[in-house]
Amino acid sequence: MVKNIIMNMHNLMEESEHSILHTYNRFPVVFERGEGCCLYDAEGKEYLDFAAGIAVNALGYHYPGYDEALKEQIDKLLHISNLYYNEPIIYAGAKLVLASGMDKAFFTNSGTEAIEGALKAAKKYAYARDGHAGHEIIAMNHSFHGRSMGALAVTGNAHYREPFEPLMGGVRFAEFNNLESVKALVTDKTCAIITEVVQGEGGIYPATQEFLEGLRRICDEKDILLIFDEIQCGMGRTGSYFAWQSYGVQPDIMTCAKALGSGVPVGAFVLNKKAAGASLLPGDHGTTYGGNPFVCAAVNKVFEIFEKDKILAHVQELTPYLESRLDELKEKYTCISARRGKGFMQGLVITGIPVGQVVNKALEKGLLVISAGSDVLRLVPPLVITRKHVDEMAEKLDAALSELS
Ligand SMILES: *Cc1c(COP(=O)(O)O)cnc(C)c1O
Repeated sequence: MVKNIIMNMHNLMEESEHSILHTYNRFPVVFERGEGCCLYDAEGKEYLDFAAGIAVNALGYHYPGYDEALKEQIDKLLHISNLYYNEPIIYAGAKLVLASGMDKAFFTNSGTEAIEGALKAAKKYAYARDGHAGHEIIAMNHSFHGRSMGALAVTGNAHYREPFEPLMGGVRFAEFNNLESVKALVTDKTCAIITEVVQGEGGIYPATQEFLEGLRRICDEKDILLIFDEIQCGMGRTGSYFAWQSYGVQPDIMTCAKALGSGVPVGAFVLNKKAAGASLLPGDHGTTYGGNPFVCAAVNKVFEIFEKDKILAHVQELTPYLESRLDELKEKYTCISARRGKGFMQGLVITGIPVGQVVNKALEKGLLVISAGSDVLRLVPPLVITRKHVDEMAEKLDAALSELS
């Protein structure tokens, strides 16, 4: 690539196909910079961002204080190794444990690695208890837990799994929000039940109160570890730090990632006292980069901003308005058959036209939204959007839908 030729977006996209493995059918846009809740493409066009890098950019772009905290850490120290202590990970761990009311955290580089760690912790817990391996895990249909081999094994979408089998064995799939289907799969070998609290990729399905309470009961009765995947629905997205907190049902292990660093690659699995005290020991698990000083400086700043600027209260306050504007669109357009969601994790079920057409038309109108499942339009905006952004989103989506109807 000749560097000093000013490339237009079309050329850049073509250039990308020469060297980047084509595992995504990307949208035809090259983004150059962000500001607040908007992105700007290489030609200067503005887009209102209701995708937030797939629920990552909780604070939007260049939130006051965030960049400065990262720059300060760059000047001190980027990386050492988990062989040594560093300050940022100590504070980040304390904040994560405090926010979740759990006991111990292990930081990872991504969501899928947080899942791997959670699965290993559950297997180790049962191994230490029973004196042998060979345990089973119950996961949910339509779940999504990541792309690495263990996370893929508990992902309830055969299309994602099949080409890569055999995956980790001993996984059984139940129906989300169907307690009887879970009970039917429990055996003496079951060591964990894993579920999202609000299914994201599967199509924005919030768990019911009875389902989570029932899972907790089953797990308590049989000494099975309950794992909640909060990677997408956690970190304030539904109005509490973690979605399970609004149900009052605590997991034994929780995973988080996406908005945890609000833009830097960091995840974590967090264990309660019972799971932390009797599972992974020195030598059982590790990571070179996981929780390095740079990403943990981001985690610290994110928690600090959440507290100082009352981000959770803001999500709670604005949610009814966001829901009402989406419900208006649902009333107006027959192609929207339902709205589902919790807080700033909302889905509109699209019927009669492919959801991809709506996403593309919205993009044309300067609005970024994404899809989930086969027919759901997903809205996961930065948590710092205001009423004005909600109005702007509704206008742009209205314009897109009216052209398609
Ligand atoms: C995104 C996501 C993951 C995977 O996270 P990566 O960082 O992409 O590995 C796992 N679980 C849920 C619920 C997710 O939304």
